[in-house]
Amino acid sequence: MIIMKFGGTSVANFEAITRTIFIIGGKLDQKPVVVVSALSKVTDLLYRISDAAAAKDSALTKDLLAQLRQRHVSLACELLEQNPVQKESAVGRVNAICDELDALANAVCAVGELSDRNKAIIISNGELLSSTIICFAMNAKGIRTNWIDARKMMITNDSYLKGEPVVEEIVARVPGMIEEAYKGMDAVITQGFIASNMAGRQTVLGRGGSDYSASLIGMAVDAERIEIWTDVDGVRTADPRKVQNTKYLEKISFEEAAEMAHFGAKVLHPLTIEPAVKKNIPIYVLNSMNPSGKGTAILRNELIEDGVKSVSFKENIRVINIFSMRMINTSGFLRRVFEIFSENKVSVDLISTSEANISVTVDASENVDSTVSALSEFADVIVDDDKAQVSVIGKNIVRLNGMLKKTFAPLKRCNVYMISQGASFVNISFVVDREELTEVVQDLHDHLFDHPEELETF
Ligand code: ADP
Ligand code: ASP
Ligand code: MG
Repeated sequence: MIIMKFGGTSVANFEAITRTIFIIGGKLDQKPVVVVSALSKVTDLLYRISDAAAAKDSALTKDLLAQLRQRHVSLACELLEQNPVQKESAVGRVNAICDELDALANAVCAVGELSDRNKAIIISNGELLSSTIICFAMNAKGIRTNWIDARKMMITNDSYLKGEPVVEEIVARVPGMIEEAYKGMDAVITQGFIASNMAGRQTVLGRGGSDYSASLIGMAVDAERIEIWTDVDGVRTADPRKVQNTKYLEKISFEEAAEMAHFGAKVLHPLTIEPAVKKNIPIYVLNSMNPSGKGTAILRNELIEDGVKSVSFKENIRVINIFSMRMINTSGFLRRVFEIFSENKVSVDLISTSEANISVTVDASENVDSTVSALSEFADVIVDDDKAQVSVIGKNIVRLNGMLKKTFAPLKRCNVYMISQGASFVNISFVVDREELTEVVQDLHDHLFDHPEELETF
């Protein structure tokens, strides 16, 4: 069995879905479990619908709901043009999903209050719609395909918008449901991103979570491989949207991929690697617009060579500087500081400490107001906005001779605020002003990848 996950751009429209079905059709002998995202930009649209409803803007809510319905109805009609009976059923299903969504969004709009629980239901609709339409289209192309409701097998805790998987429950449910759905079929299809809690209430795994769904399902069925089909020819040395002359990586380790994803490379959801590592399942990142390409293989550490693989970055972060004389010679101070971050569910990336100071970085999307006020009760706190975090990643780079010199040599003119090195062998990270980021990552990338031979292991 293999898992084939197709992201938003791979299912964006008629052409993309036709290509995707062709790719799946070529792998039926490997028993694919197809996991799909919402059509490109649809989850963003659903967020806008929930915001408009919460703001009681009924005209905008209706307009956006109509756009959503229109896009999916026309896509179903286009894909099923030649099959009038299936077309009618598919359009009926799409309309039924949209009717339910309209009712919920209008109810939210009437009161102007949006709970996380209702928001999770609203934003789940993208995957429900895409998987329904693609299932009909696969059947119409002669691939007998069964539709599985991910909410019955992907179980999370009660965090509606960023559910944490209950792994034992997923492992107990997924194999049986997939086996049952596969009876008499050529393929099965399910939704990424969406899940439910133990009480059956809908949750989602957080933005970009379909990769994570694919990997959890892969772990549960002991898949031979997990394929992540996207819009680039595999993992590259940096985000090609931001950096020029990036290079293609034929293979990287689980650890390198996890670090890249955690430190900003949006090609994979940061938690995708963890379930695959547990069962040592290789992950392949492939391009649905160029299916004959080799893509990038993500494999176990021993199969990967040492060396720099990537310059990853987070474009918008904050540095929180915490000063206190009480930190000097006091045990328990650090614990207290990090308890506050943990109680407020703010996740910290980099940490550096000196005698009376702790500096940490957090993503700018994190709400840090309550954390800062709790810290201010016993320390002076200064928050620096508009910073960016850059990470050089590669197996054992911390042991490469001249690595630090090579990393910092190109940054002659800009200020470097924090440096973190040595916490793992694969990552050197630092913080710069956000306005310097584009130049910094380009210069650093050129410097590291144009003359890699200057680095030697010591
Ligand atoms: P999908 O909708 O298929 O999940 P995403 O947009 O989430 O696709 O991820 C693919 C995008 O990730 C690429 O278009 C690329 O811009 C971005 N990306 C960021 N870092 C990297 C990298 N190191 N290698 C390849 N792509 C990257
Ligand atoms: N559709 C969801 C999102 O846009 C999940 C995903 O695409 O992975 O965040
Ligand atoms: Mg993605």
